[in-house]
Amino acid sequence: MKVEQCLVLIKPDGLVKSLTGDIISKLSETQLVIVGAKIVQVTKELAEEHYQHLREEKFFGELIRYIMGEFHTKRVLALVYQGEDATAKIRKIVGATNPELAEPISIRGKYGRVTTRGVFENVVHASESQKEAEREIKLWFRPDELVNTIF
Ligand code: UDP
Ligand code: MG
Repeated sequence: MKVEQCLVLIKPDGLVKSLTGDIISKLSETQLVIVGAKIVQVTKELAEEHYQHLREEKFFGELIRYIMGEFHTKRVLALVYQGEDATAKIRKIVGATNPELAEPISIRGKYGRVTTRGVFENVVHASESQKEAEREIKLWFRPDELVNTIF
């Protein structure tokens, strides 16, 4: 068991569908602690840096438009969770990337959809590993926006 951090983003579809309360309640089952939270208007630069590993994918352009809120609302709720095995615990509740394959009781299984434009509108982002979490949290938050000095 290791104390980790995990970046969670409630994506624009999650906000527009008023799923914030439900998602935060569901994630509270992990007993992890929220150490940072803010509403962000995502710039193209932030979106492209966040999803840099997907730059070559054919859905990249649509994904950037999606996270910037062009299809829903230009807001994302960014949260940092901290605690033992944070990434694995959160990813389990969030569910698989493709909402059609995600467990029906997971957040993505319940609320996500696959669009005809070929993007998975899957309501939330969650860091995949502690290494990715560190990179992402440094990208989304300044150190003084987090309650304890993490990195
Ligand atoms: N995505 C998509 N189609 C794909 C793979 C990914 O639309 O075939 C989108 C989806 O919104 C996903 C995001 O790109 O959440 C990031 O992809 P990643 O492989 O990192 O999945 P995640 O870590 O979010 O489960
Ligand atoms: Mg990912």
